[in-house]
Amino acid sequence: MPDYDVNTLSAEPVELREVTEQLLLAGLREHALSDQLQRQLAYSSAIAGSLAEGVCTLDRAGRISFINVAAEHLLGWSDAEVRGRDIAAILQTSDAASDLDAFPAVDVLRSGVTYRTSHALFLRKDGTTFPVAYSAAPMVVAEQVVGVVVAFDDLTEVQRLQHMQEEYLALMSHDLRTPLTAMIGYSQLLLGQLKEATLERAARSAQAIVKSGAAMERIIQNALDRSRQQADHAALQLARLDLVELVTYSIEQNMLPLDRARIEVETVASLPIIADAIRIERVVVNLLSNACKYSAPTSPVVVRIFTMGTDALISVSDQGIGVDADELPHLFEKHYRARTAGTIEGSGLGLYGSRLIVEAHGGRVWAQSTVGVGSTFIASIPLTEPSPSANEL
Ligand code: ADP
Repeated sequence: MPDYDVNTLSAEPVELREVTEQLLLAGLREHALSDQLQRQLAYSSAIAGSLAEGVCTLDRAGRISFINVAAEHLLGWSDAEVRGRDIAAILQTSDAASDLDAFPAVDVLRSGVTYRTSHALFLRKDGTTFPVAYSAAPMVVAEQVVGVVVAFDDLTEVQRLQHMQEEYLALMSHDLRTPLTAMIGYSQLLLGQLKEATLERAARSAQAIVKSGAAMERIIQNALDRSRQQADHAALQLARLDLVELVTYSIEQNMLPLDRARIEVETVASLPIIADAIRIERVVVNLLSNACKYSAPTSPVVVRIFTMGTDALISVSDQGIGVDADELPHLFEKHYRARTAGTIEGSGLGLYGSRLIVEAHGGRVWAQSTVGVGSTFIASIPLTEPSPSANEL
């Protein structure tokens, strides 16, 4: 039997008991903490699971660590399938192939600052894309960014409704404008006749009709401009179409008979492109309306449709007032109006909107002009399908 000191012997069980008690307590605390953690995790995933918004978390390496049920539905991936993949599996950007850090959502890991956008395309498992608005917020633990929470909304339906609203407004304003233009025209005529007959009071009434008509026209134009500006930010609705058919249709549907009579179309037989028909129609109508507006009422306007290299081109030439060379690059800026426009009504938004549309298709728009001789506005659209990144307006 070992030779124990009596004091030590009696003290040992007490220390042991204390240590055991402390261990037990620590164990219990840990158990309680892990229990609490489990409950919190279950609570968080119940919240994430019941959200209508898609939620996806990224780990420190920018790889997907979780997607919720809504995201599974929207993306076509299951949580298990997509875990561990990098964000390029679900988010399409211009930098998709090159550099993971170039994704703004991944850059949140470095910056720690929430990123928000409403102009992105997410990728489904089957390779198709859909427009989304998303936010990417840092997950911070002990002052360290340990991941990113990406929350996104599918904008497909919103954009479809926007498109419908825009189409409706365009049709309605076109329908309203035709009789309104006639009304203004006839009341101007009447005004002249009444003035000639020195019927001053009646002339004042006619003048009031002309003014009201002009005011109504401005209201319609403003509503149209506002809706177009909003819609200009929605993603493109690409489809295979014939540019020649689209231009012919645009002229028939949108131009007033007197202007239609001035327009001459020189074109190849057909020119298939992949584009957003409504948007390209708007570009064509903008260029044609300008050509008519900034030239004498009977002077010719020529539209040419042709290919050059890998691009489809539309050019619109007029023999109108023209623009000084130093102003040409500015015509496509928001609200820019050339000096030669003088008192001709306008908002300076048409060419700006046209540039956004053409650039979203991967193309370019530019102008050539000589003051007092005329102008040519040219838009190019690549014959190949626009790259997905270019779709964002
Ligand atoms: P708006 O015609 O409503 O002012 P746009 O954005 O369509 O706006 O055009 C911007 C400016 O470019 C016009 O204000 C005008 O000065 C000039 N411009 C556009 N098209 C022509 C044209 N065919 N001939 C002369 N100037 C033009």
